[in-house]
Amino acid sequence: MLVAKPCTECGNDEHFSKEVAPGATGELLPVGSLHGAKYRIVVCGACGYTRWFVAERFLPLVREKFETLR
Ligand SMILES: [Zn+2]
Repeated sequence: MLVAKPCTECGNDEHFSKEVAPGATGELLPVGSLHGAKYRIVVCGACGYTRWFVAERFLPLVREKFETLR
C-alpha cells in the first residue's frame, strides 16, 4: 500500500487517492503490453499537487518490460 508522505510542494500531509484508468485517448505511457494498466493518483488536499503511480498489481509488468535504471 502507498503511504501518504508530506506533499513535496507544500508539506501538507492530507492526501486523497483513487485508482483511475488512463484517458479515452489511450495510454499515458508508451508501454506496449502495459495497455490497460491502471494508475493510482494521490492528490494533495491543500495545493492539489498530484502524483501518479502505476497501480501495484501492474508493477510486475513494469519490471518485466522496462529497462532498469541503476
Ligand atoms: Zn501540497
